Amino acid sequence: MNRFEEYTTQFVQQVGKKEGAISPVIVNSASFGYGDSETGEGIFDGSVKKPLYSRMGNPTSGQLEQILAHMDGGIGAVAASSGMGATAMATLSLLKSGDEIVSVGGLFGGTYSYFSETLPRFGITSRFFDVDELDAIKEAITDKTKILFLESVGNPNMRLPDIKAIADIANAVGIVLMVDNTCTPLSVKPLELGADIIVYSTTKIITGNASSLGGAVVFRAINEGNDKFKSERYAEVHPFIKKMGKMALIGNAKKRALRDFGMSANGFGSYLTMLGLETLPLRMDRVVSSVEKIAKELDALGFVINHPVLPSHPHHERYVNQFSQGCGTLFTIDMGSKEAAFAFLNASKLITITANIGDSRTLGLHMASTIYRDFDESVREFLGITAGLIRISVGLENPDDIINDFSMARNSSF
Ligand SMILES: *Cc1c(COP(=O)(O)O)cnc(C)c1O
Repeated sequence: MNRFEEYTTQFVQQVGKKEGAISPVIVNSASFGYGDSETGEGIFDGSVKKPLYSRMGNPTSGQLEQILAHMDGGIGAVAASSGMGATAMATLSLLKSGDEIVSVGGLFGGTYSYFSETLPRFGITSRFFDVDELDAIKEAITDKTKILFLESVGNPNMRLPDIKAIADIANAVGIVLMVDNTCTPLSVKPLELGADIIVYSTTKIITGNASSLGGAVVFRAINEGNDKFKSERYAEVHPFIKKMGKMALIGNAKKRALRDFGMSANGFGSYLTMLGLETLPLRMDRVVSSVEKIAKELDALGFVINHPVLPSHPHHERYVNQFSQGCGTLFTIDMGSKEAAFAFLNASKLITITANIGDSRTLGLHMASTIYRDFDESVREFLGITAGLIRISVGLENPDDIINDFSMARNSSF
């Protein structure tokens, strides 16, 4: 049985139509005619559910949004032009000058520089913690903290958060927990664990074949009774709660971020993303099995492997108990030096050397000379970037072919 069996039926049925065009219809129009002025007024005040203008929502992207919201048990989703676009939308729709972010685990390089370099220019500051620093995380939360941001698995440090424990901290104080679930769609369910908002780069395993840059934010419903968004901390959201009730976070994201910053998805990109999504449960199942087999066998062959399936990993127990459906496509190899890492990557016949992850093909990249080249030594150490570190994203190839290729590449590069 496929580990993601519950989605195999759901996705193919949701993507394809039973009548007329089976493959999703690509609506490529930037704007839409309203027919008459009364309808135009209704579209703008929200009483008529028809497309307004593609920056505010596109029908093809709308289909993708519904599937992703359903996948994670959210009330709705908003598609974005990229994963960074999704992170920007989710955060900017809640933040104002003077606010603070507490960032836990990870962290994807783009998100790190967004938090540490770009947002401070607008008066928004961030503090960064390891997944196991629970007391320090609690202490770092102040009256100005708006977002606790968490990556579901450290990329590339492979450290795993106790998501439930971190959600309990956020919920006890009443602050938003936002989870970047890019590496672990289907296998990790942040909303079920107590998170409020999920961000995805759909560029990665969701599309899965480098055909489309995209992202999405999935939101939970606002609760009828008590809800952290009804507190003074989130006063800017209150008008949306008044008008839209449980859908408030969608309206807030669209008006406070999408309309004014324009990180909107396009219909063709969303179409390609849906084609990928259709096979996501099959690919995810295959890759999780492959990663576990490859990590174990390479470890036995003497490679320095970082993946929590290995009993020597500090979060091995957490992997077994809380990540029973895997933690995505990644593991790392420490080759000891930049020279050895370059030689290994150049000798491999199978690895595509690129910054992407979650592709059908096995991808590899030397970290310190590429994504993390602009970071100083202390930040690299915090993020676990050593001189010889290679990140591998396992693809759909036969796992034995990957193991054989890696052994060959190491032996021939010595
Ligand atoms: C790639 C990635 C992003 C950014 O996504 P883009 O689509 O490249 O903008 C964000 N978070 C994680 C974990 C990623 O891997």
